[in-house]
Formats: sequence, structure tokens, C-alpha cells
Amino acid sequence: MQNAKKFLFARNWQKALLPAFICCCVIFSLPPTAFAKDKVDLLVTGGTVVTMDGQRRVIEDGAIAIRGDSIVAVGPRAEIENKFEAVQTIDAHGALVLPGLINGHAHAAMSLFRGLADDLALDEWLQKYIFPAEARNVSPEFVEWGTKLGVLEMLRGGITTYADMYYFEDVVARVTKEAGMRGVLGETIIDFPAPDNKTLEQAFAYTQKYLDHWKGDSLIVAAVAPHSIYTCSEKTLQDAAALARRNSSPILIHIAEARFELEQSRAKHGATPVAYMERIGLLGPDVVGAHCVWVDQADIATLAHFNVGCINNPSSNMKTAAGVMPLPEMLASGEPIGLATDGAASNNNQDLFEEMDLAAKLQKIARMDPRALPAKQVVELATINGARALHLEKTIGSLETGKKADFILIGTGAPHATPMYDVYSELVYALKASDVCTVVIAGKIVMKDRQMLTLDEKEILAKAQEYKAKIAASLATPAPK
Ligand SMILES: [Zn+2]
Repeated sequence: MQNAKKFLFARNWQKALLPAFICCCVIFSLPPTAFAKDKVDLLVTGGTVVTMDGQRRVIEDGAIAIRGDSIVAVGPRAEIENKFEAVQTIDAHGALVLPGLINGHAHAAMSLFRGLADDLALDEWLQKYIFPAEARNVSPEFVEWGTKLGVLEMLRGGITTYADMYYFEDVVARVTKEAGMRGVLGETIIDFPAPDNKTLEQAFAYTQKYLDHWKGDSLIVAAVAPHSIYTCSEKTLQDAAALARRNSSPILIHIAEARFELEQSRAKHGATPVAYMERIGLLGPDVVGAHCVWVDQADIATLAHFNVGCINNPSSNMKTAAGVMPLPEMLASGEPIGLATDGAASNNNQDLFEEMDLAAKLQKIARMDPRALPAKQVVELATINGARALHLEKTIGSLETGKKADFILIGTGAPHATPMYDVYSELVYALKASDVCTVVIAGKIVMKDRQMLTLDEKEILAKAQEYKAKIAASLATPAPK
């Protein structure tokens, strides 16, 4: 009996194992790829993916696979899920998935001057208020907290890359890097004593050290930023350009922002600002020019010839009544054009959704032509065209295999965004910065469901209030002799 039981057990055991054995043989005889999925770090699944790639594909129920800091695949969800398995997944159902927005010109630290002086012409605003306020308040600590405030606002509104021009730019770079944000950050060079460097010699030495410090960084592109042709001599401009070019760094500069700049340039140099800059050897494919408002057809051809990135700042230009950039003509010339907020002191916020809306409407009303700048072209300015303007189009600006994983999820369920017929029209005319729910930069989640993961929001806002009191007090007393 005992033996019979043992026999039966052995038979049953063999019976039970037989199918498993056959199964294993099938598994092991198949190529390993038949079942194994490629491992990635992050999958974003189920959203409407607005790629901004060469074909401007919009993929309903799409997905993105990310390994490290880069995109390894973009496509329909079923296809991507079949191919990849991830350590972490973000469910994007009901959201738009867009390349991170690119703010082509800002002065992040100036967020602490938000609303300090408004309703003034650019030269009066600068000379009477901003330059004195800067002389009395700008320190490394000011730049640290001001940049934190600016970066916080930008990230919350879906900006993943920004270009900056300010003082103590090494501090700006450190704060930006710590926040996990991408930046093209230019140390300002200007002909009068600046808050960080009292002489040009010091400014050039500081800038060289700054460029050396950030060389080869994965998020920060250190740049040289001669302020403008009206605050820098010919020699300063040429020396700044030479310094940038010796270090293969971009040159950030304000170009033809206001009418006075054009008039001064004609009187002093017998040329428009663009023609003067060409004459002194400043223009090149490494230059990013903010504003480019007062440019004629010959200037536009010159800027296009040198592949100068030109940045449109509609809010700032409207607020200081600087003028209207001839955007349609500039786009027609093929030159790379981006969109920007400018500093919060002249805007008064860092909201690129607002800039998209205003860029479109400003061109329409200025020409009395609603076709002047369509929504799709505006989204291009804030993404792929903005990347071209910063000369970073190989790295960012669209959701494509091989590019850096910089993207945002935008909720579309709010009353002001419902219903949606066309993604581009939705993005430009309906959605708000506050609809951005999740932000990923270089594959890292920086904001998740509107919770900031890299910055202490409460502390930053409290510090900004403290600075307001200090700045107001500094302006209430007469200027130090
Ligand atoms: Zn500016």
C-alpha cells in the first residue's frame, strides 16, 4: 500500500511537471526578445502627445519611453507598452504631453522687482528705477532668492529651459541646476560698475571663471551677455564676443529693443543696430538677440544670413511701448525665432502661456489681420523654433527619439479648456500656466501633480516678502554718494 501510494505520487508528479517541461522547452527555444521587454526608466502613457517633430505628429493615446535623460521612443501607447517596461510610469490620460516650453529671454532674479515701477518708458524705467534699485540691492543672496522665485514660477508654468542675463550668473547657474532646470545663462557685461564687478577687467575675469566652472555641464550652458549696444562700447562688445568665441559659448544680447536705440545708433554709428553689429563682427550663429523690434527688411536678411536667434517678448514690448517685432516677415526669412517673458520687472510675470496668447494677438491687431500669426506657429515659437533660437535644436524642442526627455503634462479638463477641437488653438488661446500639472526635465520629475519636488516653495515665497521690505526701504532713502 505504501509502495502503491508512492508510485501514484510519482506518476502524478511527473504528469504535473510534463506540461511545465514542455512549456519551458518552448520558452527556451524561442529567441529571448519574444517575451523580454526593453527596460526603461520612465514610461509616460495615455496622453495626447504633441511631438512638435518634423511632421508635427499629434499622437492620440500616445506614449513616451525614457532611459536616463533621453527619449528612446515615442509612438502609440499599445506599441510602446508592448516594447518597453519601466521602473516608473506616469499616467497621462486626459492630458496633453508637450515638449517643455522654452523661455528665450529672462532676468530671473529680477522677479524680486516685480511691480516696483510700472507704466514708464524703457529708458526712464531703467535709468531712474531699475539701475538704482540694482545698485543698492543686488548681492549673491538677492540673486539666489530672486532666481529661485523666477525658476519656481517658470517651472510651475511648464518652462523647462530658459535663457537668462544677469549679474552673479554663477549663482543663477547653481540655483537652476539645483532646481533640475535647463538654462542658457549669460553673465552680463556692461560699461558701468555692476553689482558683481566694478570694472570691466573684473567682469571679464569673473566671466572666464564662470565659463570654466560650467563647461560640459548636462543642464547649464554658460554664456556671455554684453547688455546692449547702448550700454557697451564697441571695444566691450568685441571683447565680449571674442571671450565667448574662445570658449565656444553663446552670446546673449538685447538687440533693437526700443526706438531710442535705433535713433542713437543712427546718430552715433551711421547705421541701424543690426548693421552696426554686423560691421563690428558681433553677429554669428552663436548669438541670441532679445527683442529685434526696430529692424528693417535689410536687417532681417542680415539676421537670417548669420542665423542669429531672435526672441520675441510681446508682454514686455507692449508694456514699455517699445514696439512690435515684425514676426511674420522674420519667420518668412527662415531665421530662428523664440518666445520669451523678459524679466518679471517689465512683464510682470514669467508665464509663457500668456506670451503665446499675446504674441498671436499682438501681430493680429497690429496688422488688422487675424491670419498674421496662427496658433500652430506660436506653439512652434515656444518649443522647436525656440530651441533653434537658442541653438539647442539638436537637444530639445520636440519629443523625438534621441532628444533630451524635457516634457510637460497639461490638464485639459478645466472649464476654460473644455471642449478641445484643436490642440494648438487650445494651447495658445485657452490653456493657462496653472493647467500644467507635471514637469519632467532630463528624465527627472521636477513637478508631479503640481507638487514641486526640487524647490521649497513656502520658503521662497517668504524670502521674497522679506526682500520686498528691504528693497522698498532702500529706495525710500536718497542715493548714496
Ligand atoms: Zn531683457
